[in-house]
Amino acid sequence: MNEITQEEMVMEYFINNPNMDIRHPEIVDWVTSEFLKRTGKIFRDPDRQIRQLSQSGFLIKVSKGSYRYEPASVHKRELDDFTAAQKKEIMERDKYKCVICGKGIKDGVEIHIDHIKPKDFGGKATIENGQTLCAQHNFLKKNFKQTETGKKMFIRLYELAKDEGNDELLSFCTQILEVFEKNNINGHIVWIR
Ligand SMILES: [Zn+2]
Repeated sequence: MNEITQEEMVMEYFINNPNMDIRHPEIVDWVTSEFLKRTGKIFRDPDRQIRQLSQSGFLIKVSKGSYRYEPASVHKRELDDFTAAQKKEIMERDKYKCVICGKGIKDGVEIHIDHIKPKDFGGKATIENGQTLCAQHNFLKKNFKQTETGKKMFIRLYELAKDEGNDELLSFCTQILEVFEKNNINGHIVWIR
């Protein structure tokens, strides 16, 4: 007998109610009673199941305790992800090493395929937009989101100083932007000297 899984039960509910913000208790009430009706079993830990679907990108967490399923964005997210063939090509091009520290699988380091320009900024799943990073540098990069505004600000200030011929300010901005470059932080925001 092909019995419905807990995951499928939650997905079914959202697929039948697309593009709507749905409160957590509503989901739980429906899936637990429907699951019992169809399988005669208790739905274990519905919270965990919902959370997992949110983490995997199937559901969008709208606010605390509120979720949404958008068929269009789920599809888009899939298109933004690298295929297995692309990953292989990027790995081969980058020689199975982190492009920042040079450590690789041989050094016992886990290698990730990273979007140079992040997906959230419209970065596409192309070979050109892919790079290999070790787990540590991939983690660091994700945590440097908050420095993006700063980098953009110094680029603007740099341009302004150049236009004004303000050498002192130009030198200051150059030094700061060089620190960004040296540490490979926010590389997707390009500073043109
Ligand atoms: Zn690294």
